[in-house]
Amino acid sequence: MKVVLRNLTKKFPGRDKKNKVDVIAVNDFDFEIPDGKLIGLLGPSGCGKSTTLNLISGLEKPTSGQVFFGEEDVTGLPPEHRGIGLVFQNYALYPHLTVRQNILFPLENLKGKDKLSKAEMLEKAMDAARLVQIDELMERRPGELSGGQQQRVAIARALVKRPRVLLLDEPLSNLDARLRLQTREEIKRIQKETGITTIFVTHDQEEAMSISDMIVVMKDGMVQQIGRPQEVYDSPANLFVAKFLGTPPVNVFEGQVKDGWLTIGKDAVLPVKGAAEGPVYAGIRPEGFLLRKGGAFGCELSGVEVMGRDISVVCANSASLSPAIRAIIGSENMAEVSMDARQVRFDLKPGKVFLFDRKTEERIEFDASAISRL
Ligand code: ADP
Ligand code: MG
Repeated sequence: MKVVLRNLTKKFPGRDKKNKVDVIAVNDFDFEIPDGKLIGLLGPSGCGKSTTLNLISGLEKPTSGQVFFGEEDVTGLPPEHRGIGLVFQNYALYPHLTVRQNILFPLENLKGKDKLSKAEMLEKAMDAARLVQIDELMERRPGELSGGQQQRVAIARALVKRPRVLLLDEPLSNLDARLRLQTREEIKRIQKETGITTIFVTHDQEEAMSISDMIVVMKDGMVQQIGRPQEVYDSPANLFVAKFLGTPPVNVFEGQVKDGWLTIGKDAVLPVKGAAEGPVYAGIRPEGFLLRKGGAFGCELSGVEVMGRDISVVCANSASLSPAIRAIIGSENMAEVSMDARQVRFDLKPGKVFLFDRKTEERIEFDASAISRL
């Protein structure tokens, strides 16, 4: 089921006694969520992710605008008539009911023509439990399950009525790192198997990037960028998006475009054909540095960090906005650095360098294909 948001806005009255300015939690959202895909709503805490989800579920009413499921305008429909499944961070299971009873619960409330026989209900509950692989645990109570298992029960309960749209609000936040990794793969698998349009809210960029077909990056109630995760990573619309995606984060420098070159400090580091002359922010992804003896860009070496497979060269530069610059270097390239050196020099991969306007922080395009030797 396709989900369409049309000029969707939600304002909350200001809570501050002196300052009664409205909070615009969701500001004019206008986009389509394609049928059968998994979409990640991604942004820092307070950017309006839960509010967006609540507008789609019907738990909140919009100040203006509409929500469509397919061609149907559902803006006026209460949540129970929208055909949605909801999963929250805190599982929200009934502690005194068994797993089976928890999963059966939504079915037992069906009325009229939707009413099912006991046998039908049990079969559907078992199907949902098998899908999330908890069919062995049906007689336990939530208190006898791990966090990951509890969240699977919550997902089974959300799926048992075969919702048109599955909505998940930070479903993995209560799980430890290993379970989080495992459960997010599970969610991806379940989504693929069922083909149910799924909207997944998270503040964790890695989580959103790893499982989403499409991500919506948000800040302060505004959509910043929509696209496939790799597209957004490779081609961020603005400095915020560039900084929000990627670990280690993008390195940001104050730079200048001068005579067709990006200049950082005294170094002309990269030709940037097509970019207007003047001050810019330059973002360089950690994997965009190549250690070279006579490289264009000099930094002071602070140390080397080995993190499993990756080697980060940590260095400093007075034009950098943060004290530590991290460059991820392939081990074959490490021979180029002598650990007693005070300085390291890099060439830059043009596709990993972004320019941003100093005022608007919007991305400035340049012709990266002009450089052939890298
Ligand atoms: P997120 O889920 O991205 O952390 P929310 O959607 O919960 O963000 O909140 C977005 C903004 O709306 C925040 O500034 C929050 O304080 C505000 N907000 C959310 N719910 C309410 C409410 N019921 N009343 C007033 N303000 C709210
Ligand atoms: Mg939230």
